[in-house]
Amino acid sequence: MEDCIFCKIAKGEIPSEKVYDDEHSVIFKDLNPKAPVHLLAIPKEHYAGVHEIPSDKIDTMGTLYATIGKVVKQENLTENGYRLVINSGKDSGQLVPHIHVHILSGRKLTWPPG
Ligand code: 5GP
Ligand code: ZN
Repeated sequence: MEDCIFCKIAKGEIPSEKVYDDEHSVIFKDLNPKAPVHLLAIPKEHYAGVHEIPSDKIDTMGTLYATIGKVVKQENLTENGYRLVINSGKDSGQLVPHIHVHILSGRKLTWPPG
């Protein structure tokens, strides 16, 4: 989608520190990390939230989570743990309207989130 920062990151039009990149998904470092490890996992296809994915395309999320599973192992996050978060819409604090899974790790995370 035009003017979407994360579509531009997916296409390599805006630089990012990628830790994973394939035809479906990209995982890159958050510019303003909220934890010692803060990655963002995105599908390359543009949807604002899971509620926008048509049922015949819902595998997009399965593929994304399979990739996240590989990357959290590669990055050694599984022993101490990690948190996956998707913000959707105004009240959640979503700033970028392209689905992204936050991967937070490297410190004790408080619960419930604010
Ligand atoms: P949201 O609030 O939409 O759930 O999260 C958006 C996240 O994207 C924020 O944590 C913010 O720091 C990150 N972010 C926004 N713009 C950029 C960017 O251009 N590059 C990177 N790497 N992260 C970004
Ligand atoms: Zn987008």
